[in-house]
Amino acid sequence: MSLKKQSKRLFGTNGVRGVIGKDMTPDIMLNLGAALGSLRKGTVAVGRDTRTSGPALSHALKSGLLLTGCDVIDCGILPTPALQYLVKEHYDAGAMITASHNPPEYNGLKVIEPDGTEMGDDATIELENRFFSKSFTIQPWDKVGTESDGSARLEEYISAIVSHFPPDIGKNFTVVVDPGSGPASLTTPRILTRLGCRVHTINDQLDGRFPGRLPEPSAEGLRALSDAVVSTKAVFGVAHDGDADRAVFVDENGNYIEENQEFGVIAEEICSREKGLVVTPVSTSQIIEKIAEKYGSNIKYTPVGSIYVARTMLDHISAGEKVVFGGEGNGGLIFPNHQFCRDGGMTAAMMVWVLTSRNQSLSALVKKLPRNFMIKEKIHSHKSGALIAHIIQSFPHLKIDKTDGVKISAPSAWALIRPSGTEPFMRVIVESDTRENAEKFYQDIMSVASSFS
Ligand code: MG
Repeated sequence: MSLKKQSKRLFGTNGVRGVIGKDMTPDIMLNLGAALGSLRKGTVAVGRDTRTSGPALSHALKSGLLLTGCDVIDCGILPTPALQYLVKEHYDAGAMITASHNPPEYNGLKVIEPDGTEMGDDATIELENRFFSKSFTIQPWDKVGTESDGSARLEEYISAIVSHFPPDIGKNFTVVVDPGSGPASLTTPRILTRLGCRVHTINDQLDGRFPGRLPEPSAEGLRALSDAVVSTKAVFGVAHDGDADRAVFVDENGNYIEENQEFGVIAEEICSREKGLVVTPVSTSQIIEKIAEKYGSNIKYTPVGSIYVARTMLDHISAGEKVVFGGEGNGGLIFPNHQFCRDGGMTAAMMVWVLTSRNQSLSALVKKLPRNFMIKEKIHSHKSGALIAHIIQSFPHLKIDKTDGVKISAPSAWALIRPSGTEPFMRVIVESDTRENAEKFYQDIMSVASSFS
């Protein structure tokens, strides 16, 4: 796979994002709509999250699409994975107005391909070129597109998820859902109710001011969820980011589950049942590789970004391989029997299935995972390429992987150093079985980085 994320000028790893009125305006959205409508013909499904700027940006985007001759199905407010599912089933492309986990003043766009995946680098660069050169195929009056309402189709997404599980698998469970005033208010409580769970909700009003918590489901923001789990004696609490492609959990004691551990709990269940490839970015915890190896499965590492995970999964399936699971260590998990994108609603349902199948508490399942200790830091640098070359030269005897930045594997720890897509710093992740080994290797990396000038 060619890594072209650094060549994109407007889109980041997961779409375009910006602050409303500053670097995200209706003008930009109008031109993005016209660019997309000039690149992809047919019927385009449009959706949005609950942000206050969503209606304004949606009208602008639809205007661009309609003028280039595309028909528009407006699906209204829904999770990104719900729009992806509907595009895969019915439409020629999709456009989701969302800034995912960013604060309320942000908004943006994710573009969806006909197979439900997010648009890859090559097509995105083509889309950007059309955007910047304004090469739009504006149609005459008798060829402009038509618009219709597709909001009733949200039910299809809910039913699709429920259909993957035996009836009433959650019948003995109480769960708490915190959609964070985002679009999962319309889906996850209904999915879990249909699986038989008794469902309590907090922050379930659709509100783009996000009065209960910010769209990023951080441990600090989920205190109310933790309290609700404990007071209702729930088996878990689940929270979503602003567009519900990610899900994070608190256990039955109200403790936040680190997202690599969440990935591990579900990987343990999937890998114990089926052998095949597990696909994940180079930034993911070694927990996942250890679980895959334990059950005789292989792991395939990709650059950081869910589109790379999804497309690598599809590539290996096209080559005749069995792919059982994919995902990122941020609560964005991809279930290949459902669809090739991160899906927070599906992840919530999977956790019900895991707890039923294992008949153990979530905290007990987390305790059984392989041990790990992870350090995440940043190094300020304007010369990321030269710094990476310097780091590689400094560890001549260690295994080097250049899938994204550089991953250096020592016998007792590994480190990933990679440039930020947008800012002058490098992200550093170091992981080992123990805190001591992780800290030691982190110090080794930092002393090499600080000797670079
Ligand atoms: Mg998201």
